[in-house]
Amino acid sequence: MKKISWFEATTLEEAQREANATVSDFLGKEKADGAIIKSGGIDVLDLMKEGLIAPDRIVNMRNIPGLDQISYDPRKGLEIGANVTLTEIENNEGIQINYLALHRAVAKAATPQLRNMSTLGGNLAQRTRCWYFRSIDHPCLRKGGFICFAKQGENEYHSIMNNGGCSSVYASSVATALLALDAQVVIVTKDGAKKQVAINEFFVPPHVDASRENILKPGEIITAVTIPPSGRSQKSYYIKEGTRASFDWALADVAVVLEMSGKKCKSAKIALGAAAPVPLRAEAAESVLVEEGVSPATAKKAADVAMQDATPLEKNGYKVAIFKAIIKRAIEKTI
Ligand SMILES: Cc1cc2nc3c(=O)[nH]c(=O)nc-3n(C[C@H](O)[C@H](O)[C@H](O)COP(=O)(O)OP(=O)(O)OC[C@H]3O[C@@H](n4cnc5c(N)ncnc54)[C@H](O)[C@@H]3O)c2cc1C
Repeated sequence: MKKISWFEATTLEEAQREANATVSDFLGKEKADGAIIKSGGIDVLDLMKEGLIAPDRIVNMRNIPGLDQISYDPRKGLEIGANVTLTEIENNEGIQINYLALHRAVAKAATPQLRNMSTLGGNLAQRTRCWYFRSIDHPCLRKGGFICFAKQGENEYHSIMNNGGCSSVYASSVATALLALDAQVVIVTKDGAKKQVAINEFFVPPHVDASRENILKPGEIITAVTIPPSGRSQKSYYIKEGTRASFDWALADVAVVLEMSGKKCKSAKIALGAAAPVPLRAEAAESVLVEEGVSPATAKKAADVAMQDATPLEKNGYKVAIFKAIIKRAIEKTI
């Protein structure tokens, strides 16, 4: 059995100095050594148990001071540190009141025990739960192989949009709410510089690079996620459907964020999770609400429009109907 050493980072600089790989640098590579970041450790340990990664060193960033704070400034908005747990986000009163979609997304994720351990940074950077990706016996596109096994295989939980190459879905349902809320991911680069990236630019779709799902490079660390201020005119909602009510990732999830001016919808953001390999904005559906207002009739129209380009696989056509139902319901919840 391979020996693994443990490094307890007490500062960001220490963690960056020690960590010379990301999880993606191990997958499908013959030479697999290096030191990776661990926060809550749920996905890191699962990938190790699945035999997909075998790091020499684990760099624990869970106890670095200062990354576990939630703060709100009416002008700047919300900032959530990367080491804040999903439970802490779920229990934050300001988030419950002002960012209902995020509160609901977090509260519906995983289980209470998992939410106690899961950190926001780790949640965003977790890898897909596609069972072919998670199987060491299947050298799929994401692991340097040449085919997506799900295409001709067991694809009932896979993507129904943008699924021409890899048809996995992104595992983080928290990311769905963050996308609709226009979040930014704050990253410290290897040379110590801070950059702020719009969350839609944080995800890497498989046609760009199938070997990774996010832009993080070795030594780069998420320090926080920021969300613009939420005014009184903002309404949001989130719905997740799964095969089980708990202890499972999303089969389909949706976050809706509307800016209202009286009865007029000034702007609409509809984000879909578990529809495609990365979370997606349903822009044509958003236009329906902005142009025609928000009502049960336009909610149904927007849901239909959101699914008009769906390309389901042999066994997951049922997900289209689920998406239509939850998109409609989530919009109606904002009325
Ligand atoms: C049964 C089950 C059901 C689940 N259901 C859901 C669900 O419905 N919705 C959902 O969203 N999630 C779900 N999860 C995921 C879970 O909630 C965790 O968020 C996730 O597994 C990883 O969080 P973590 O903090 O343990 O990350 P870790 O395992 O520590 O890290 C995950 C990855 O992120 C990297 N990383 C960690 N922190 C940082 C950082 N600050 N900067 C850069 N890289 C970093 C690590 O190197 C690793 O690659 C589920 C998990 C399980 C086991």
